[in-house]
Amino acid sequence: MSATRKSQLELAYRAVTEEIKQACAKYGRTLPNLVAVSKYKPAEDIRTLYDLGHRHFGENYVQELQEKAKQLPDDIRWHFIGHLQSGKAKIVREIPNLTVVETLDSDSKATKLNNQRGEELPALDVYIQVNTSGESQKSGVLGIEAVQKLAQHVISNCKHLHLVGLMTIGSFDQSTTEGENKDFSVLNEYRSKLENYLGWPTGSLGLSMGMSHDYLQAIGQGSTNVRVGSNIFGARKTKEEIKGQS
Ligand SMILES: *Cc1c(COP(=O)(O)O)cnc(C)c1O
Repeated sequence: MSATRKSQLELAYRAVTEEIKQACAKYGRTLPNLVAVSKYKPAEDIRTLYDLGHRHFGENYVQELQEKAKQLPDDIRWHFIGHLQSGKAKIVREIPNLTVVETLDSDSKATKLNNQRGEELPALDVYIQVNTSGESQKSGVLGIEAVQKLAQHVISNCKHLHLVGLMTIGSFDQSTTEGENKDFSVLNEYRSKLENYLGWPTGSLGLSMGMSHDYLQAIGQGSTNVRVGSNIFGARKTKEEIKGQS
């Protein structure tokens, strides 16, 4: 890796962690976990941040995660943040340091992940992905009742899964308007309702929300887990551009 690329990454990473600290001070919030979203970026980029002490990295594609996990240290804590197909559930057994799946959206996937994870590995942390905007093309569970039902299934029937919170991607419109982001407000409201329903203490579930263009606002609205890609690694090629190359 070139020295320029290395210092570019280090600077961007430091700038993001500094902005997160300042946002927490400004809004009176505790520091969220930072997931560095490394999709389409090479393993050596990840290694550079690893050497600065960063451990949480997010990936969207199964094959890409498999390849990177093989090349990189096994104390990285991988977050799977892409659309997970049921047929690919075995990655949670193949990659023991796949620590979190943030995109759980059905009972049947929960059952498959649970069976694959099994006894030998530590429980897999899961977020239920919520469709907070109600747009039909968005993924995630729609409606509080469906979220409660899935949460109950995880808790009652999936002892190798550990429900840690709710996740949303949110609509781009909301992230570019001033003031409160409605998707983040909905996720907050769902968390309170779910904690109530389960009889769990307030704030025992986390909120995974906020990406490069809206993570500071997400912190203001109580995010406990931000997922930042391009602000750290730079702009990504699109899927089409990647395909065109190979
Ligand atoms: C790609 C991706 C991110 C990071 O997006 P940036 O805008 O580059 O920060 C975060 N969350 C999910 C679910 C993603 O797919």
